[in-house]
Amino acid sequence: MIQGVTVLGATGSIGLSTLDVLRRHKDRYRVVALSGRSRVDRLLEQCIEFQPEYVAVADDQAADEFAQKLRTHRLENIRVVNGVKGLETIASLAQVAYVMAAIVGAAGLRPTLAAARAGKTVLLANKEALVMSGRLFMDIVRRHNALLLPIDSEHNAIFQCMPAPNEQSAAWNKLGVSKILLTASGGPFRKMPLEELEFVTPAQAVAHPNWSMGRKISVDSATMMNKGLEVIEACWLFNCTPEQIEVVVHPQSIIHSMVEYVDGSVLAQLGNPDMRTPIAHALAWPERVASGVSRLDMIAVAKLEFERADMQRYPCLRLAIEAMQVGGIATTVLNAANEIAVQAFLEERIRFTDIPKVIEESLEHRPSTGADNLEAIFAVDEWARAHARRFIAGLKN
Ligand code: NAD
Ligand code: MG
Repeated sequence: MIQGVTVLGATGSIGLSTLDVLRRHKDRYRVVALSGRSRVDRLLEQCIEFQPEYVAVADDQAADEFAQKLRTHRLENIRVVNGVKGLETIASLAQVAYVMAAIVGAAGLRPTLAAARAGKTVLLANKEALVMSGRLFMDIVRRHNALLLPIDSEHNAIFQCMPAPNEQSAAWNKLGVSKILLTASGGPFRKMPLEELEFVTPAQAVAHPNWSMGRKISVDSATMMNKGLEVIEACWLFNCTPEQIEVVVHPQSIIHSMVEYVDGSVLAQLGNPDMRTPIAHALAWPERVASGVSRLDMIAVAKLEFERADMQRYPCLRLAIEAMQVGGIATTVLNAANEIAVQAFLEERIRFTDIPKVIEESLEHRPSTGADNLEAIFAVDEWARAHARRFIAGLKN
């Protein structure tokens, strides 16, 4: 049977890779819906190629303009929806089995949760959603019998190295798992003298040595907040604590992560750094399909290196691990403050080294709210954004 797919964030880096995998397997998958907020021309090209039933754009005005463009291409059959409601609609359509959650940041939370509530197979790239509201998110997945498959390359690797997925919620001692080794490339500033870090530019920060990604996650990789968010993501996905995860810097990004067992076995998943591998893996699971990724040439790679993560160089990693240890809304605050700080850095309003300062300060002043419902989570998210903005405004004086 041909399976229906919704791609949330189709115009982004993960969205493009997803469509490239889907394009190779038209006999297995049908694109039912696409979403994009900016890069409207790209979205239009995707509509022309994949002829989805629905497309979701930013707001009313964008919807009117997009409908007009569709008419000029005689694609008026495609229904244009917009806003969060529109995203929630396309994430829960009856004819859709798989929802790729690839909107960046907190904006992806509501549509991703809508997909989980509709019991879909959720292919999760949007790690910020889990960081904001891990407990609620996982509860919804369980309650509505959704299937959550990780797209983040590390988590996809861990998933592949873990025992059978229906056992993954069992206690680790029953599974014989002793540790997760979460690999990190170290980003573009791994070897830069610490005193030069405050002068790095957005262009330098987004130039990742191994992966081609969106701007926000590229900055997160440079600060290693990305790895911090991934520690949190792994805790929720694999039912463990930050103490059971060791971050290992592995500059070649060939091993995508490892799982250590009590008998001394360490299982790793390897491959060229290309997101089409985890995307194809999750789409076809438990089967396998071709992804278009070139074969790994171990002889050409020749050498795999490993280093300990330096917490002085990467204070964002420390802050994320501490926030997960504290629990509750701390990770919601961490995520929101980070999004605001990264945006400010990309707009050259703060320095690279101010990013952890904004986050640490926001965490210190966080409210004492609980994280037990979505309204509370969004209220905390908004508080943290406002707080971070005020702190940034103060930094300039
Ligand atoms: P990107 O910036 O390239 O694309 C983001 C997508 O989200 C675009 O389609 C954009 O239109 C949409 N979007 C942005 N803001 C929106 C909003 N407010 N409302 C609706 N749509 C919005 O980002 P990316 O690199 O593709 O990353 C997407 C997600 O996947 C992120 O959460 C990232 O952490 C995660 N991820 C990415 C990679 C990678 O290799 N790029 C790897 C692992 C995880
Ligand atoms: Mg990753």
